[in-house]
Amino acid sequence: MSQAFPHLLQPLDLGFTQLRNRVVMGSMHTGLEDRFYNYGKLAAYFAERARGGVGLIITGGISPNRQGWLLPLGGTLNRYGDVLNHRRVTAAVHRHDGKILMQILHAGRYGFHPFVVSASDSKSPISRFKARAMSEKDILATIDDYARCAHLARLAGYDGVEIMGSEGYLLNQFICARVNQRQDRWGGAVENRMRLPVEIVKAVRARVGADFIICYRLSLIDLVEGGNTWEEIVSIAKALQAAGITLLNTGIGWHEARIPTIVTSVPRMAFRSVTARMRAELDIPVIASNRINNPQDAEAIVASGDADMVSMARPLLADPDWVNKAAAGTPEAINTCIACNQGCLDLTFSGKRATCLVNPRAGYESEKVYLRTNKVKKVAVVGAGMAGLSAATVAAERGHQVTLFEAAAAIGGQFSMAMRVPGKEEFVETIRYFQDRLQRTGVHLRLQHKATAQDLAAFDEVIIASGVKPRIPKMAGIDHRKVLDYAQVLRGEVVPGAKVAVIGAGGIGVDMCEFLLHEHQQPVDAWCRQWGVDLQVAEAGGLVAPEAPQVSREVTLLQRKPGKRMGAGPGKTTGWAHRLTLLQYQVKMLGGVDYLGVDDDGLHISVAGEEQVLDVDHVILCAGQESVQDFVQIDGKGRVDRPHWHVIGGARLAGELDARRAIREGADVAAAL
Ligand code: FAD
Ligand code: NAP
Ligand code: SF4
Repeated sequence: MSQAFPHLLQPLDLGFTQLRNRVVMGSMHTGLEDRFYNYGKLAAYFAERARGGVGLIITGGISPNRQGWLLPLGGTLNRYGDVLNHRRVTAAVHRHDGKILMQILHAGRYGFHPFVVSASDSKSPISRFKARAMSEKDILATIDDYARCAHLARLAGYDGVEIMGSEGYLLNQFICARVNQRQDRWGGAVENRMRLPVEIVKAVRARVGADFIICYRLSLIDLVEGGNTWEEIVSIAKALQAAGITLLNTGIGWHEARIPTIVTSVPRMAFRSVTARMRAELDIPVIASNRINNPQDAEAIVASGDADMVSMARPLLADPDWVNKAAAGTPEAINTCIACNQGCLDLTFSGKRATCLVNPRAGYESEKVYLRTNKVKKVAVVGAGMAGLSAATVAAERGHQVTLFEAAAAIGGQFSMAMRVPGKEEFVETIRYFQDRLQRTGVHLRLQHKATAQDLAAFDEVIIASGVKPRIPKMAGIDHRKVLDYAQVLRGEVVPGAKVAVIGAGGIGVDMCEFLLHEHQQPVDAWCRQWGVDLQVAEAGGLVAPEAPQVSREVTLLQRKPGKRMGAGPGKTTGWAHRLTLLQYQVKMLGGVDYLGVDDDGLHISVAGEEQVLDVDHVILCAGQESVQDFVQIDGKGRVDRPHWHVIGGARLAGELDARRAIREGADVAAAL
């Protein structure tokens, strides 16, 4: 047993099989499951996690039939012909002594295709297609499909299956009156609503035998109206246990819930107490999940007896070696998931392959391979923002001699401003990770050294990652004392007054509003009050009336474009939560604005031809950014005027910049040196 994190890293005996530790890589759709020719890439992706020491892997959702597809032609296992593809995955995991479950997911009314079915005729608020109510015949056929799917999974070499019964997918739709309006034996009282999942578990168990893991992911708090009460949820869990499940995994909230459950602003381990209560009710191992990303927290959960295992999906995407690093007693070396969703869920929900903002190799394990160099070069990197840090560490890892110049006193660049935004506290972890990695890879870091062309003359390769600076728009009164740029405010150089106008409603403008309006990471109880969450789940869905927050400033957020979905920022899966937060804090949002100027009276604007003055103490510029290109001339295609010089990240192109691009470009340029 490992000395570090002894409870988390102790094996778990399931009777017929043993798991090597208590860490579960939770199910996460990567997009590789959906196209059969991608199974080699999927195998490489899981193999790297198995090699990294994780105890149990759960695949992304695989449908038991066509009606259950999440997307047209989504991953399905219903024919013997599909077994061979899956064998590539299971063999790759078993080669590294890992264990893997295949998740069986029937999307129900969340399916993005015209064949969608559900408990009742209905359409979810986040779906395009209306679902048809399943007939008795459909239901019986679906039970058979689950059993056949699990049987095929066993043939494919999986160690078990996870039956996805949470997050608002089909089985969750059956067990909650929110969707299930049936009058027959599959609807009505909770005993009837739970009949489908219970029958599925019985049918699967009968088909696969006793020595095969069946994990069931049950929604322990639905966070939607018409969800279940705690009493109902416990009765369902007990019935599933009696029907033959091996493990119970925690699900939190439906996808259509208007309460964030996994983004950075959700406090770490927010839902731990719900899992702990369930564990006390059951005799089988229970798995905790949601917003757990470091070994210290995971250890505390298992050591306290709140759960038997801890599920982390995104953290294992961010760092496949998470478990090995924890076991080695070096948690500081972990590339921590910052819960941004930008590289994973935002891409998945756009129909693209998932990867990770902090780890561009995620999902690309067989394509992005950083080979050790056989020609060591002297490499200079200018700028220790995300792009420069990524380039410097990958180049050094490959064996090059790297010097990293940074003008500021610390590394991080723009990211060290981002981490000061409430709800983005996790971003500090990425800076900590790079700090550690610079040391491990032997990069020579020169802080407070603004590199000059002369400094760079002696290097074989030069990577310019000098980043961006705030754009200062042309406007009358731009030099007025009331005008500040975002960097001045975020660095704490000026504390803005009680009435503020924010120019620019992009990602930074939205972050600025959050910075002006609320405190850093709330404790769990305060967060629950703000979002109206009752972790006791006394009422259906665990919902109570949210408490209006105290509003300390009057903030107006402005943009020139007409204001559709203003205040959401760029995140596809997180934007709605930002917008709701700004509405809770009564931020006034104005689109279609012309800026006329700033003077002692405030900010003069015109909206739809009508002039007005916003009487504000400060006007904060969040009007985008411009590249810092002190050294080089680059053409419109991002090419540089000097051989062996490369320009990356914000220095190359300020538009459409985010840390994902910066880190990816840094790694790519270093991989090619
Ligand atoms: P920078 O971060 O600008 O780094 C450039 C570095 O180069 C700086 O440290 C600078 O001091 C140094 N430098 C410049 N010239 C020299 C020189 N001559 N010698 C030595 N050093 C030099 N992105 C996201 O993806 N998700 C988010 O949620 C997000 N939120 C954000 C919130 C805020 C408030 C801010 C400000 C940014 C946010 N970003 C976010 C954007 C993200 O931080 C940047 O896109 C990314 O970090 C840019 O990285 P970079 O390395 O290209 O440039
Ligand atoms: P941005 O997203 O491009 O937004 C710039 C804003 O400024 C826009 O609202 C734009 O709206 C306005 N603007 C542009 N030029 C202007 C001008 N000349 N005068 C007045 N207004 C002007 O850039 P950003 O907010 O600076 O963010 C920088 C990068 O960081 C982004 O690319 C973003 O991806 C990343 N980021 C991401 C997140 C995240 O949560 N994912 C958060 C923060 C930042 P109008 O043109 O309509 O006025
Ligand atoms: Fe975590 Fe962001 Fe990476 Fe997704 S993209 S795994 S949320 S760090």
